[in-house]
Amino acid sequence: MSPSPPRRIARRRAPADRAAGESATLPGFEIAGVGEESDAFINTASWAKVAVLFPLPLPEPFDYRAPLEWGLKLGDHVVAPLGSRSVHGVVWSVDENNASAGNLKSIESFASAAPLPDESRRFIDWSAKYVVTPPGNVLRMVLRSTEALSPSRTFAVYAPSDAPCDVVTPARARVLHEALREAGTAAELARRAAVSQSVVKGLIEMGALTRHDRPEDAPFDPPDLARPGNALSPAQHAAAEMLKEAVREDAFAAVLLDGVTGSGKTEVYLEAVAEALARDPSAQVLVLLPEIALTQAVLARFEERFGARPVEWHSAITQKARRRAWREVNEGRARLVAGARSALFLPFRNLRLIVVDEEHDGSYKQEDGVAYQARDLAVARAKFGGCAVVLASATPSLETLVNAQAGRYRHVKLSARHGVAVLPDVVLVDLKVDPPEKGSWISPKLIAATAEALARGEQALLYMNRRGYAPLTLCRACGHRMQSPDTQSWLVEHKYTGRLVCHLTGFSMPKPRTCPNCLAPDPFVAIGPGVERVEEEARTLFPQARIEIFSSDTAKGGDQVRAIVERMAAGEIDILIGTQIVAKGHNFPLLTVVGVLDADLGLKGGDLRAGERTYQLLSQVAGRAGRADRPGRAFVQTYAPEHEAMIALAAHDRDGFLAAEAGAREAMGMPPYGRLAAVVISGPDEASANRMAHEMAEAAPSADGVDVWGPAPAPLTVIRGQHRRRFLVRADRGVDLSAFMAAWRARVKVTGSVRVQIDVDPYSFL
Ligand code: ADP
Repeated sequence: MSPSPPRRIARRRAPADRAAGESATLPGFEIAGVGEESDAFINTASWAKVAVLFPLPLPEPFDYRAPLEWGLKLGDHVVAPLGSRSVHGVVWSVDENNASAGNLKSIESFASAAPLPDESRRFIDWSAKYVVTPPGNVLRMVLRSTEALSPSRTFAVYAPSDAPCDVVTPARARVLHEALREAGTAAELARRAAVSQSVVKGLIEMGALTRHDRPEDAPFDPPDLARPGNALSPAQHAAAEMLKEAVREDAFAAVLLDGVTGSGKTEVYLEAVAEALARDPSAQVLVLLPEIALTQAVLARFEERFGARPVEWHSAITQKARRRAWREVNEGRARLVAGARSALFLPFRNLRLIVVDEEHDGSYKQEDGVAYQARDLAVARAKFGGCAVVLASATPSLETLVNAQAGRYRHVKLSARHGVAVLPDVVLVDLKVDPPEKGSWISPKLIAATAEALARGEQALLYMNRRGYAPLTLCRACGHRMQSPDTQSWLVEHKYTGRLVCHLTGFSMPKPRTCPNCLAPDPFVAIGPGVERVEEEARTLFPQARIEIFSSDTAKGGDQVRAIVERMAAGEIDILIGTQIVAKGHNFPLLTVVGVLDADLGLKGGDLRAGERTYQLLSQVAGRAGRADRPGRAFVQTYAPEHEAMIALAAHDRDGFLAAEAGAREAMGMPPYGRLAAVVISGPDEASANRMAHEMAEAAPSADGVDVWGPAPAPLTVIRGQHRRRFLVRADRGVDLSAFMAAWRARVKVTGSVRVQIDVDPYSFL
């Protein structure tokens, strides 16, 4: 007897807030003839053995059986029993000739949505190995909106029908007029026509308005490829041609687009985007932007170029926007996606170009959960997709530059600013020679330059990379320092809110009236500056000026950021005082003076990239000055004017700085000439953390070209009650460090509440 065709019963919709993989009642899945009742119909000889990867930290995919006639394919979305639950997973392998499959548990249902593309699956496997995490953890980052697997729900809109309307009252006429202009829901039409909903209902009942079903998740407007871009300068044109050439090759190619701030890198890569989209009607393009929620201005330029907003993907979008974006990418309809690092894990069907803008930016490194560096994974993703990846920056990371110098990446340079804008003069202010007055932070030179700029109707930007009022609050009676209970780091005073805040964990408390140590009343002195304190000083110096603070405390989210940026661009702010949020690609035509109040802040802390990061950040900040037709000056206040980062900054000698930095790294065998990985062990008490650290030290494999350093107490020894120990592993370039770390990890059994986190290519050493 041939098996009867599987029955298909649509399942109920899952609650929207359920995490990926946690329920069988996921939308989009259909029961396909399994369970006690239907099993009888299925010929048991015709099972396929199917391995399913779940979005969970399991070591590998699990095997199930599925009727052959389901025709399950690699990448299909299925629901299968796991313990007592039914969990969403993805088909990772299919064996159609497996005699023992009949003994396995059955897959429960499958979705009719498009399967996860082959290159996404290979990318998941590869990146899981690379970052030393179970592949299910990477799949979890891919399946960010399983709701999107079901067809979009629809809602009713109404448009005028051909049927005549019997009684035309003025109210009805207004509704019909509005509906003719644009169909809308009953409520919308009533609102637009300023009538009650009963008027609209009446028109629906008499057939004068007819119902149309509109999908809740409408497709995005496609980019208009007929729109011309800006006319490019000859240098920009040449650079754009090289990027377009890489796109046309339809094969993996990595290109460093290396141009000073304001040279038109965005203009140039937009041409490569246009090329990729125009030459293949199903091509998809991904542009990664650092902290995209904060860089809305770039999105506006995309919209201007293509007449449609790119599809946005970052942590601040709503659940609904996430579902819509995921669905449209998965169906291959979303053509241009602009996103934060996590967009790299979207299920693109035909990715033809990836752009990583500001490729040196620290926000591409994810440290919580699965630790990964999105820039590096973007290059790997492009390899799997056989497409081009463009890394754009004015201050490329040493990693990328070394790859370009070694010929692994192509190197496209733009050395002049667009139009008449020139690079700002950088003046090093030696704080030992030219200090500000006691208790102030702005040096006399910077005060004078700011005053002159304001007198000319221009603007100044004062950069201090520390939020709040003062980084240390000290009892003047007993010397007690207010510390965070979780991390033992200093609490930062925030004057506007009257609170003391831990910038690491977010812990905060009202500023006490008495010292908790010696009970002296009103005893506290503020030590050191934050932006709020700089603002206080600027108001005293320039009482007439319009002054604003720009930090993540004053600009929470995209709208507030946009508002401040727009006010600054429109000349409604005279002095902007900001943290590193100001360093990100804004164009302020009237800005001619930039003051970096404490350039040494980033050099402290002794991590590998401190010098490089300081150089990048300071040159980005300095690059904000003189963007348009007015020359700018940047004043960099430092106690270390002899530091090579400072000298290079003043001389605009990026390559000289990087060459010195590269020499030092090469001598130490550090990245990019060697490789690093970190292990952080955290436990609820010192004893458990030490025990695990000891066990790991004992288990460390020995391998040629690998040094294991540690365990040592992590610089942040306690975070949220967790005691932390660290290992640092350095390996020669040729060593497969990921494999070494995986082998090491497999040798120890982690039990109880202790955690072991591996970070390949660590950026933070805390
Ligand atoms: P970068 O990304 O290298 O910092 P942008 O692409 O942001 O440079 O360009 C800097 C400024 O110059 C922007 O305001 C941009 O609109 C303008 N610009 C650059 N190239 C052109 C061009 N070819 N035509 C018109 N404006 C341009």
